[in-house]
Amino acid sequence: MSAVLSSQALPGATSLAADLPSATARLDDVSLSYGSKPVLQALSWQLLPGQVVGLLGRNGAGKTTLLEALLGLREPQAGQVQLFGQAATALDDAARARIGYVPQHSDLFEGFTARQLLAYFKSFYPRWNEAKVEGLLSRWDIPRDQMISRLSGGQQQRLSIIRALAHEPDLLVLDEPVASLDPVGRRDFLRELVDQVLDRGTTVVFSTHILSDLERVAFNLAFLQNGRIAVQAPLDSLIEEVRLVSGPSAAIQALLAGSGAELLRRQPEAAGRERCVLRFAPGQVPLLHGELSVAELNLEDLFVELT
Ligand code: ADP
Repeated sequence: MSAVLSSQALPGATSLAADLPSATARLDDVSLSYGSKPVLQALSWQLLPGQVVGLLGRNGAGKTTLLEALLGLREPQAGQVQLFGQAATALDDAARARIGYVPQHSDLFEGFTARQLLAYFKSFYPRWNEAKVEGLLSRWDIPRDQMISRLSGGQQQRLSIIRALAHEPDLLVLDEPVASLDPVGRRDFLRELVDQVLDRGTTVVFSTHILSDLERVAFNLAFLQNGRIAVQAPLDSLIEEVRLVSGPSAAIQALLAGSGAELLRRQPEAAGRERCVLRFAPGQVPLLHGELSVAELNLEDLFVELT
């Protein structure tokens, strides 16, 4: 559905960032550390209007930190973050009202009922879709008049999502949105969640470390590795275009130079050999290449290699 986005992964990797239409969210060279621990390192990333992106990374890779920086909730030590063309840490009210955020840990007022909570939030937003709220409360099985503290973890998470959808945001950010749901329900639920916003062209980004969440849902996958977005593209493009190539370094260099492939990961092996993850242009993927071995990668392999 949307253009392939490629963020710079390694020196020499191509960046299309400059050529893209105006982004919903844009991070340029963002670095953020906790004390001496670097988490984001000169990270550049864009979310285009209408994109649905699954942000993948291992536990502790910095997904929450990245989403918080994207939302202006955490100020990086270096770099710029823009939302709807404004500095993320100085958004005006109109821009703020265009964002829906579901944090990893429920931020609901536990002494309220769902009905009271939603009435409270409604007062802050110029746009509020009451019919959608009522429909989702019924379909997702949330009791309206029970204290939030007495709802299950999964119900609280769904309520938090309803709250974030109610004002029809143009950007929806979800941090591990299905973490409290059981494995059977999570994929279908995510699918439905995305369907809820697709017809409005909402930009959606959700983080996860659970691969099965992604296969039927995310149109784009973004891999967070070593503080940067290593690559972002639709899953089917990645499966088609990314290969694990191993063999003598000189032969890999020759292949890289000759094919113009993007180097996503390089790992030296013994005695002048290495294994590299390369992304080729469509139609340029080598089947066999002399002394090199060229292997396809499935989603699980991609996760292992790119996060
Ligand atoms: P993820 O969401 O991918 O699991 P996080 O963004 O939560 O990753 O954390 C990235 C790293 O930063 C982890 O090593 C975590 O322990 C550390 N970290 C997160 N928040 C803080 C904080 N407030 N202070 C210090 N270290 C933090």
